[in-house]
Amino acid sequence: NANITKRKFDVVIIGAGGSGMRAALELSRAGLNVASLSKVFPTRSHTVAAQGGVSASLGNMSEDNWHYHFYDTVKGGDWLSDQDAVEFMCREAPNVVYELEHFGMPFDRNADGTIYQRPFGGHTANYGEKPVQRACAAADRTGHAMLHTLYQQNVKAKTNFFVEWMALDLIRDADGDVVGVTALEMETGDLYILEAKTVLMATGGAGRIFAASTNAFINTGDGLGMAARAGIPLQDMEFWQYHPTGVAGAGVLLTEGCRGEGAILLNSNGERFMERYAPTLKDLAPRDFVSRSMDQEIKEGRGCGPNKDYVLLKLDHLGSETIHKRLPSVYEIGINFANVDITKEPIPVVPTIHYQMGGVPTNIHGQVVTHDGTSSHIVNGLYAVGECSCVSVHGANRLGTNSLLDLLVFGKAAGRHIVEFNARNAEHKPLPKDAADRTLERLNQLQNSTGGIYSQTLAGDIRSTMQQYAGVFRTQASMDEGVLKVAALRERVGSVELKDKSMVFNTARIEALEVDNMIEVAQATMVSAAARKECRGAHMVDDYEHPADHPTAPLGRDDVNWLKH
Ligand code: FAD
Repeated sequence: NANITKRKFDVVIIGAGGSGMRAALELSRAGLNVASLSKVFPTRSHTVAAQGGVSASLGNMSEDNWHYHFYDTVKGGDWLSDQDAVEFMCREAPNVVYELEHFGMPFDRNADGTIYQRPFGGHTANYGEKPVQRACAAADRTGHAMLHTLYQQNVKAKTNFFVEWMALDLIRDADGDVVGVTALEMETGDLYILEAKTVLMATGGAGRIFAASTNAFINTGDGLGMAARAGIPLQDMEFWQYHPTGVAGAGVLLTEGCRGEGAILLNSNGERFMERYAPTLKDLAPRDFVSRSMDQEIKEGRGCGPNKDYVLLKLDHLGSETIHKRLPSVYEIGINFANVDITKEPIPVVPTIHYQMGGVPTNIHGQVVTHDGTSSHIVNGLYAVGECSCVSVHGANRLGTNSLLDLLVFGKAAGRHIVEFNARNAEHKPLPKDAADRTLERLNQLQNSTGGIYSQTLAGDIRSTMQQYAGVFRTQASMDEGVLKVAALRERVGSVELKDKSMVFNTARIEALEVDNMIEVAQATMVSAAARKECRGAHMVDDYEHPADHPTAPLGRDDVNWLKH
């Protein structure tokens, strides 16, 4: 097609967040010709919002080793994690953190010059005995510091950035191998085929399929949508983590680092209720446990405010100096989003959708793996890393600070593996004749659309439906109904109308294309959630009890011996 320009690279990376840039660095340094695509400028990718820290058992401030980190991660994941992958990640953690330090990452420092580490939920020493300081932090701007460090290193290594480019579809040949992607240059509206020996997806999370989310608006699950349309099944999609401390009414995150520094949760009686639910870890119990405890307080009438629908996070006892030094962004969020000065008064918080544990299934090298029920199959030429992938280290519930670690460990591992893969495959495979057919068909459909519905309306309906039927607390009936609701929403995707047909930076076209991806993620989530008939990690269903031997304590149990299993 005359309107499509073809370009050829060794590797195309979709996404320039922490995971994509860590992989890109490995590849560019090895001399490969890398195209790194991003919907936004790389340093505005969502990794920039990560606040609290990146986990590694450095043992700078308290007794720690990778075995404890491994145990906490598997336990926190409610025993669904791939334990080999967790071992790999926890053993590699100190290496990738020190490597980041050598790249110039401005970590906070202890008096002796070592990296500052704070406690975080579910991270313990001696197998659950006491909280441990494992989160390596740069104030409450760890993701910001990390992303800028990686960007600078990539500029030095000559990675080719394609800023404000949106990847649309994977190109698979007759063997099922991935040989490139189609992509839209947002500024011009021009369409490209980017040929590559390897495509790496690093498109981040999809939290924006829910109405109340800590995620940025660009987190629409594009990588997952592209994979699903290319016939690649998604894994563990029922598991969505809710963070205990989203600002009530705003959704903006207040890092778990607050509680790591000593902040506490209070109910309307002024009681530090987590002491009742988790006497050992208190406010630093894992996120699913704290969120359920908060919900229980609210359900039993001890919520705060006129509608008794939130609890309070109290920080003022930490002192103004500590807050401004360790939690400067949290202070600003309090002022800007809740009109609360956290150095003087507590701030209203509620559990808020935060992180997807599921995604495109991979092995520890980042290779995409599909399962047909009896055997596994590697999709040649396709890799995935970061939040869009599911190597299954987080199981049913991720521990805070393990995501930034996941980006570094598996970003690097994938980069290394791709170098070898590309070296073994001297030539690019030929493009199939129908390489851009699906993309062209969809773009033409939008261009010729009349009298339909706006993508914003449909996106809003997807968000409210997901919130209502698959939100923080679920019932079997709500999920079963949600499956039908989402299927009905899917029927409406083909009727999306593009009112503004202009080519130049047409955000309406981008939004319409994002809805194509959102619906794939929403449907995979809803169907998987309805199919899992148990309580597990972040998948909390009112209808089901925790099995007696299940390590996660049911609500209301006033001891947490499960933490010592
Ligand atoms: P991202 O950083 O989200 O990058 C995705 C990239 O993909 C972007 O460059 C985007 O432009 C690009 N992209 C997407 N779709 C397309 C497309 N179609 N075409 C082209 N490009 C595309 N984790 C921790 O471990 N510690 C923390 O302290 C922490 N704090 C957090 C605080 C907040 C508020 C939130 C929301 C999350 C936090 N997390 C934390 C989680 C962690 O930040 C994320 O899981 C992680 O940063 C995701 O990184 P990523 O590389 O997978 O994706």
